[in-house]
Amino acid sequence: MTPLLVENALVVGMTREGDVVRGGAVLVEDGAIAALHGDARRRGAEIAAAGRPLDRIDAEGLWLLPGFVQTHVHLCQTLLRNGPDDLPLLAWLEEHVFPGEAVLDEETMEVSARLGLAELIAGGTTALLDMGTVRHTDAIFRAAAASGARVTSGNALMDDPATTPPTLLTAAGAGLDETDRLGARWHGAAGGKLRVAYSPRFALSCSEGALRGAAERARAHGALLHTHAAESAEEARLVRERTGRSNLRYLHDTGFSGPDVVLAHVIHTDDDDRTLLSARGTNVAHCPSSNLKLSSGICPVADYRARGIRVTLGADGAPCNDRLDPFAEMRLAAQLSRVRPGSPPLSAWEVVRMATADGAAALGLSDVGTIEAGKRADFVLLDPEAGFAAPTAWRDGPYGPLVWSFDRSHVAATYVDGVALYRRATPSPAAALRPPATEIARAVEKMRARRHL
Ligand SMILES: [Zn+2]
Repeated sequence: MTPLLVENALVVGMTREGDVVRGGAVLVEDGAIAALHGDARRRGAEIAAAGRPLDRIDAEGLWLLPGFVQTHVHLCQTLLRNGPDDLPLLAWLEEHVFPGEAVLDEETMEVSARLGLAELIAGGTTALLDMGTVRHTDAIFRAAAASGARVTSGNALMDDPATTPPTLLTAAGAGLDETDRLGARWHGAAGGKLRVAYSPRFALSCSEGALRGAAERARAHGALLHTHAAESAEEARLVRERTGRSNLRYLHDTGFSGPDVVLAHVIHTDDDDRTLLSARGTNVAHCPSSNLKLSSGICPVADYRARGIRVTLGADGAPCNDRLDPFAEMRLAAQLSRVRPGSPPLSAWEVVRMATADGAAALGLSDVGTIEAGKRADFVLLDPEAGFAAPTAWRDGPYGPLVWSFDRSHVAATYVDGVALYRRATPSPAAALRPPATEIARAVEKMRARRHL
């Protein structure tokens, strides 16, 4: 693989607040970040002087960030986008999602996964945790392998006949054996980018044996555990009715707590649940667009973070969002943190960190999520002049614009392991209407100069 030197970017490293280098450089060798800034330029010069091939990108005017990490998506549901819009969670699952997943076959599953991955990558997502459906998970992995993205997925376990339609019902042993088989085939494939997770759909769709079996097998294989939890009030009520415990306590009792567990949503929780999440280091995937569309409620992110609980971001599935766009989730997470009176608002830095480094940590991906020498070269190039985020001059740091005014039209390129998976096509005709950056900068300076008036 030819080394790649990206020069002259605004490098937003995300290791700590203020880790921002103007005119920065990143040298990529063998899919990893080999050196940064001055070291990168020196090493690039050595490679060129030795007559070895070196690819160069002049990223003048672009911002370079770690790729976004989405900790909860459903690639199998992309073809179910634009279904009914006004149903609450359980009715929406029964009427639209479960019947839709039941009719997927290998071919339609692969189309669904490809469509979702294309959208995710074009929006700057480089790593994701996906919940498959009960069958055809190989098709998801085939699409993931072809996409080049860093994908963790697994077959959803649904073995409770009281809550699972017969078309999806799979005995616990058969479902768990299928995850084992997928693990043997795909875990570590595509140069380590693919991984298999044990994924009971949610407490209501599974027997206690399925949950316990998933936790045991995941730990035997060093795999992630992924499920939905406390998403809607009705679901939380039904779990308490069936088990005599809260959703979070019940999941903990069956093995679903700890740093190797990602719980999606986690909205309806009490003080005991939150103490448990914090004490066990369990990860929360906050999916704000989905939660609002399905009237599920608002995740108490500020309280979780104050307790040291790691909160990350996910778009959830296409039919409950209906975009797989990290910028939409970042902006909404920031907005929702301002809804509860007296609750401290999430800063833009905190939100971008949730969407990058914290997401990577939740997925156990210690080698992505920040721009540092030695990490894998998973990054995005963003063009602040591409859409309508200008001017960015009122703020010193990049975090505010990233959360509040950027959207996925600003993604110029997406790289995983130093390979470009996406490059933006030519700008739209509307770009001609837009004042050039120099004219906007002049106007802002003029306004600044007149502020004493
Ligand atoms: Zn979900």
